[in-house]
Amino acid sequence: MKRQCCIICGKPLNRGIIVNGKAICSNCEDKIINVRMDTDFYLYYKNCIKKYLTYPMIRGEDNRCQNYHL
Ligand SMILES: [Zn+2]
Repeated sequence: MKRQCCIICGKPLNRGIIVNGKAICSNCEDKIINVRMDTDFYLYYKNCIKKYLTYPMIRGEDNRCQNYHL
C-alpha cells in the first residue's frame, strides 16, 4: 500500500483522515478542529485544501451538471 503524506504538513501519514483521497494527519486534523478562522494556519490550511481538492470537486460538478459541460 502506498504511504500517503499529509497535505498540510507533508509528513508521512501514520494516523489521520482522508478527504477526497487526500490525507490529513491527526496532528493537523486537531489543529483544523481547534483553529480560529482569523489565524495564519487557517488561511494556510484553506490554501492547501483549495490547491489539492478544487480539481476533483470541479470534476464532480461537471459530472453532475452535464449541460454545463462543453
Ligand atoms: Zn499534517
